[in-house]
Amino acid sequence: MELNRLEQALHSARALVMADLVAGDVAEAAIVSLVEDAVTHRRWWVEQWPEGVSFVTGLIAQDVQDALLERYGRWPLCPVCTEEGPHALDVEPELGPDPHWVCTKATVSVAPVGALAEVLGR
Ligand SMILES: [Zn+2]
Repeated sequence: MELNRLEQALHSARALVMADLVAGDVAEAAIVSLVEDAVTHRRWWVEQWPEGVSFVTGLIAQDVQDALLERYGRWPLCPVCTEEGPHALDVEPELGPDPHWVCTKATVSVAPVGALAEVLGR
């Protein structure tokens, strides 16, 4: 695979996940470094499995989500279920192109990864 295509995919994934972190007001320095860690890990991963290049945005979003859960808490919180306790959105497909944030409780697709700002009105 062309190196360019890999770097482009990683660059785009990083930008989209960062946009969602900014939308949720959690783009602190320590969290930005979690994104960098995820990008580094997925660069290695795509080098092992080039067919997965179009999956990196969804995977990096999930990596960051997992890393945040340990250090920060649930992210991103569902903007649909405001009546019940807060829960996190999930990425679908878990392993596929064109990832979206979905609410599995209300079974709605909330926004494409990278477009949370529009939903949150920021
Ligand atoms: Zn929900």
